[in-house]
Amino acid sequence: MTTSNDIPLAAKPVDRAAHHRTDPEWLDAAIKREDVLVFLMQGGKPLLDASGKSLVWLGPEVARLQPQAERLFMGKDKAGAPIFAISMAKGFKLEGSLIEGTGEFTDMRGAAAGLELMQANLASTARSILEWHRSHRFCSKCGGESVVAEAGWKRVCPSCNGEHFPRTDPVAIMLATKGDKCLLGRQATWPAGFWSALAGFVEPGETVEQAAARELEEEAGIKADPANAEYLFCQPWPFPSSLMVGIIIEADTTEVSVEQDELEAARWITREEARQVLAGTHPDIYAPPAMAVAHHILKEWAMRDA
Ligand SMILES: [Zn+2]
Repeated sequence: MTTSNDIPLAAKPVDRAAHHRTDPEWLDAAIKREDVLVFLMQGGKPLLDASGKSLVWLGPEVARLQPQAERLFMGKDKAGAPIFAISMAKGFKLEGSLIEGTGEFTDMRGAAAGLELMQANLASTARSILEWHRSHRFCSKCGGESVVAEAGWKRVCPSCNGEHFPRTDPVAIMLATKGDKCLLGRQATWPAGFWSALAGFVEPGETVEQAAARELEEEAGIKADPANAEYLFCQPWPFPSSLMVGIIIEADTTEVSVEQDELEAARWITREEARQVLAGTHPDIYAPPAMAVAHHILKEWAMRDA
C-alpha cells in the first residue's frame, strides 16, 4: 500500500538535525566545510542544472556570491554533510556572477516533477519556508519588523519578543466514492479534460474528515458522514505551504449540484474508467500528474477490488 513515504515532495526527507539550528557557531563553521552542500533559491525558484533534473550543488565558495544572503539550514545528508538553502536577493543575476552558466532558476512546479525525490523534498521545503519569510516580515502581535532566527526556522520580534514559526495549512483532498464509482471535479480555469479530486482548507475547530464532508457538500452538493472518511496519506505542497491530507470518503448521496464559484463541473466515473484515466486511455479525462497527491488517491482507489 502507498504511504506518505512514497508520495513525491514528501519522500526521502533528510535528517533535519534540528538541534543545530540554535547553535550559530556550528552553523557558521558548517557552511565553510569542504563537504557542505548548498543550493540556491530565488523568488521561490530553485537553481537547476542544464539537465533540469538536478539542483546545482555549491560548496563553501557560496559565501563569496552574496555574503549577507539569508541561509536556511536544511539538515544533513546520509554522510553527515550539512545542507543549506540560500535565498538569493531579487536583484541577483546569474549573468556575470561566479556561477554563470551552471543552470537556471526554474519554476517549482516544473522543477519538482523532474527532480529526484530527496532534491524535490529539499527544494519544496526551502520554497515553503522562504516564501513564509517573504510574507511574514512583520510581527503579527505588535507590527514591528521581525528578524530571522534559528537558521531560518523561526522569526523573532525585537520589539515585543514575539516568536513566530513557519506555518503549514492543512487541506482535505478527498475522493468521494459510492459503491463502484468515484467523484471527480474540475475548475473552469483548468486545461480541457483535466479532472481531479475535490479539496478544501480545514477550518479552525474542524477535523480533516469533517472538512472533507463539508467541502464535498459545499462544492458538489454531495452529502457524506465524516465517520465514513478514510485517511490515506499526506503531502506537503509548497504553493505556498499546505499539507494535502488525502481522504477517501463514502458518500450518502449521488446527485451533483456544483457551486459555480468553486467548480465548473463534477461527475461520477466508474472504477474501470478511473483505471483508464490513470492509464491515459480514457476518451475525455486525463489524470492529475504523478507529482500531485490526487493522482495517488485516485490510483489507490482504482486499484482496489470492487
Ligand atoms: Zn512584536
